[in-house]
Amino acid sequence: MPTYSDEGVVLRRIDYGEADRILTVLTRDHGKIGVIARGVRKPQSRLAARTDLFVRSRMQLAKGRGELDVLTQAEPVSMPSRSADARRAACAAVCAELTDRVFESHHPDDGVYALVVEALAACGDQRRDPRAALVWFERRMIDRLGYAPQLHRCAGCERMLPEATAWFSAAAGGLLCESCARHDLDAIECSVRVIKVLRTAAGGDAELYARLRLDAATLSTLERVVEAELAYHLDRRLRSFDVLRALERQTARPGVVEGGGYVSAASSRSGEAERDNDSEREVEPRSGV
Ligand SMILES: [Zn+2]
Repeated sequence: MPTYSDEGVVLRRIDYGEADRILTVLTRDHGKIGVIARGVRKPQSRLAARTDLFVRSRMQLAKGRGELDVLTQAEPVSMPSRSADARRAACAAVCAELTDRVFESHHPDDGVYALVVEALAACGDQRRDPRAALVWFERRMIDRLGYAPQLHRCAGCERMLPEATAWFSAAAGGLLCESCARHDLDAIECSVRVIKVLRTAAGGDAELYARLRLDAATLSTLERVVEAELAYHLDRRLRSFDVLRALERQTARPGVVEGGGYVSAASSRSGEAERDNDSEREVEPRSGV
């Protein structure tokens, strides 16, 4: 079997057979590939930790006969920090699911690879807010998919937007002026602050974005905007969003353990309002808890 080496990060993995795993790996030079890692679930396997989710490693692979290549060696380039913060892992899971969903196999793209690797690192970085890092990643991905929103002129009537509140419409493809927004009940009200952050993200300056201090209300609106865009452009909602939101609810209400019955309410107005409240409480936890 011909062999090759590449750097890659594990986006998804499922157990297979008695001790194997099938991995979805985003590689730098070969794009997204399917890989079988044989025997990694045996206790003595050296590859086990190196094929964990979101681990970035230098891989040796053999071309398989079918869809899957065979992993023969992996040397970690960076391991995700093993923090106890489940929300960081949940944000990383959204990055991974979005990447897996939107990219076809075997289409290498240096820019996307760097973006994904940086986003996964940012989600695990204790100095970064993982939700802000996730918003950045989602915005960059949406732009790369060719759906960059219109942020300076009204996406309805094309008039220049004044320095004032505007409304984001995923269906219209950007911000709407007040009169156009009256015809779009799903449009999301965006403060001047939110609009400035959206424009900064559109500019693509990662360092400038990372320095922005996003208050809870701004971050919450940004999340609604990107989720509305993803819901509009992807045919199915990302499942990892539901996990993230359920965790945020738990964090917001310590001591309350959610059952398995969490139902996504992102598309209902009342659900969004409730989520906004949760987000604020999470950033400013109740004292004494
Ligand atoms: Zn307009």
